[in-house]
Amino acid sequence: MRIFLSLFLTSLFLFSPTAAKVKKVAFDAQAAGRYIKDLASDSMQGRKSGQPGGAMGAEYIASRFEEWDLEPAGDNGTYYQNFTIEHRDIKVGVELEIIAENARRDFYYGEDWRVQRFSGSGNFTAEIVFIGYGIHAPEKEHDDYAGVDVKGKIVVFTTETPQRLKKKLGDATKMEKRIEAAQKLGARGAILFRLSTTSSRYFRMRLKKEQYKPDFVILSVERKVMDFIFKDLSTEIRYSIPAMGRKAELPKTLETGVKAFVSVNAIFDEKRPSRNVLAKITGSDKTLKDEYVVIGGHMDHLGISPMGDIMNGANDNASGTAVVMEIARIMKLNRAKPKRTVIFALWAGEEQGLLGSKHYADDSTFPMNKTVAYINMDMVGHGSGKIPFQGVYYGPQTWKLLKEKLPKEILDYVMPRRGGPGGSDHTPFLEKGVPGFFVMTRGAIKYHQSRDDSDLIKPEMLKKTGDFVHAAVKILASESGDFFPPLRRETYYLKYQNLINFELSLLSEVVEHHKDAKDSHVDLQLAVMKEEEGLSGDGLRIDILKKFLSASEEIEKAKGLSYYSSSSSLTRDIRQGKTTIMAGLMGINAFRDDPRWAQVLVKQGLYFAFVDDPSFLFDEQGLSEEGKKIIKAVNNSGLLLLVKGVDGSQAKLLLKESKRPLAFLDKSLPDKEVMELIKEKESAFGLVWSNDADPVAYFNKLDEFKKAVGTEYLMMVNEPCLWGQAGKDQMLKVITEIIKAKYDRTDRSNIYSSTFLRVLGKARGESSRVVPYMPF
Ligand SMILES: [Zn+2]
Repeated sequence: MRIFLSLFLTSLFLFSPTAAKVKKVAFDAQAAGRYIKDLASDSMQGRKSGQPGGAMGAEYIASRFEEWDLEPAGDNGTYYQNFTIEHRDIKVGVELEIIAENARRDFYYGEDWRVQRFSGSGNFTAEIVFIGYGIHAPEKEHDDYAGVDVKGKIVVFTTETPQRLKKKLGDATKMEKRIEAAQKLGARGAILFRLSTTSSRYFRMRLKKEQYKPDFVILSVERKVMDFIFKDLSTEIRYSIPAMGRKAELPKTLETGVKAFVSVNAIFDEKRPSRNVLAKITGSDKTLKDEYVVIGGHMDHLGISPMGDIMNGANDNASGTAVVMEIARIMKLNRAKPKRTVIFALWAGEEQGLLGSKHYADDSTFPMNKTVAYINMDMVGHGSGKIPFQGVYYGPQTWKLLKEKLPKEILDYVMPRRGGPGGSDHTPFLEKGVPGFFVMTRGAIKYHQSRDDSDLIKPEMLKKTGDFVHAAVKILASESGDFFPPLRRETYYLKYQNLINFELSLLSEVVEHHKDAKDSHVDLQLAVMKEEEGLSGDGLRIDILKKFLSASEEIEKAKGLSYYSSSSSLTRDIRQGKTTIMAGLMGINAFRDDPRWAQVLVKQGLYFAFVDDPSFLFDEQGLSEEGKKIIKAVNNSGLLLLVKGVDGSQAKLLLKESKRPLAFLDKSLPDKEVMELIKEKESAFGLVWSNDADPVAYFNKLDEFKKAVGTEYLMMVNEPCLWGQAGKDQMLKVITEIIKAKYDRTDRSNIYSSTFLRVLGKARGESSRVVPYMPF
């Protein structure tokens, strides 16, 4: 059928001069392959943004756009959108040699050691001094540097910190403080290692530019290097490192007598010019031309490695860049007349943290609230067969339209996937509420390796990606669709955050109503076991356990549900679109007469006990004997106690008695003293919102608590059910306020779920234990 049609068109073209318009040029994978070859050639020096290679890449693309007569969409009628980036680079020729008394050894960069960001430069030989944790807090009676002079030497310390020290020393245990201490005390550099057995190869220190000193080097090393430093040292000292992990005791400072030869030439430039390349085809419709469909990918890569390897980045991401270019070329050539404006974007600075796409999303030239969708391509030249299309959970309306309109032969190889933020340039779009899609083909082999070259690119993958995205753009740019639903951005955050539904329904009902859940915005549902009237003691317990077991069986059978076991399994199940259920007790009658039962119930799989009116825990003297017994039972069992309706003095009594964190729920904030105590006891406060709560007033209270002691101890607790429209709408209004107040990722995550999960873990006695490092 297609052959006949094209023959027909060809004959038209031959015989009628006006029919030239009809003949469409298809996506040419060979042409795209040529762009990749050019972009991923050695002469482009790895296309790192902020460097000549990055600029060459941008110029190459812009000159093609000009040649193809695409409209410029950058600054002042050019193809370039200018901005500055923070530029860091390690020059070729790094060296680390450890010189012991009887042996010396060179270590491989990238394998055995790395230069951390914000390291300065150095070319020196210096003695190595072991400093334990590297914590310098004499004002708190802790100083790992006591009795040793590190001036002109290089210090070695572990990046991990026992909880005990963290608690006692607070900010002084932060990595930036440790680096600052080494700098202040005159060391020339720091070598960092991890106690845990896992490799630190991809480990990145969270340092800030304030720690950058031009002549202070910051390196991280694998255990291999530590082993070599320590291999000839006396027994007592050899055991001091494992002892740090095991007993969390103070390590001994040690002048090793071993030396290091370090050669690092690091560059840090706070402001370097960089630019995105932008072209467009302006929409043909009077009104719709002010709406935008964006396709893009990052053009930058990693430059030249400190070992001198040119990182060509053919798949990452000359491939995505080439597909964007080729789609632009054929749309122009075919005289495409999309109703909306189509923007072709090649981003700079992706590898340094999505800098180019962030700049575009923050810029108002092409407003985000007028942007229909963004399709990102990053690594589309490897793999075989299918093309995963990530992001349908966040842009269901867009995907619905595409599914209706795309030809079957394309739909056959496109695999819709949930998607979400992270990893590439679709992220800044999602965060502004724009449906952000991400195409990355399977088999990202040679990722961030010097062997990511153009000879490994598969033209058939470029072709499939190109045909799909080209067809998708044409649809999105001209069809009508439900592109701008109200509260688009809020809805993204509702979906993206791990959302707990605190509405404590009965477990059996939750299972019954939601067993077919799929991609719900409710990620974790708290549910309770009902205490049947007239039952007490063993009768009540047996009834509860029976109900729990039968509900558990139902959960296991239900496709859309899973039962809570850990925060990591929660994350995994969310990614699969499931809702996780966590059950607890409504009241404490099931163990009030016999506290040992608390433990049994926890072992069976219950996580919390909700106490609405805790007056029975108190008498005139304060906490009653029974109250104390119950707190003890709760502590021993690992149950998390959610307490509602206590006043300030009662909360204080409970906090003082409990050895483990508690969670207090209330509609109004506790006084300052209680807030401080909640923080001190690592407990949590859940601010309750009811149906009639004013979202703005509610948020203001949240914010007041945040300002007082931080979000680490704060939870949003809903009374209206979040599955229903009313609860959802209410939550969206609160999210509006959270966005306005620019809460960062950590704050948002805390108030939605992280604080709750942390308190739960602590109540259960789970701690992130440091795995002992055994170097010998
Ligand atoms: Zn990439």
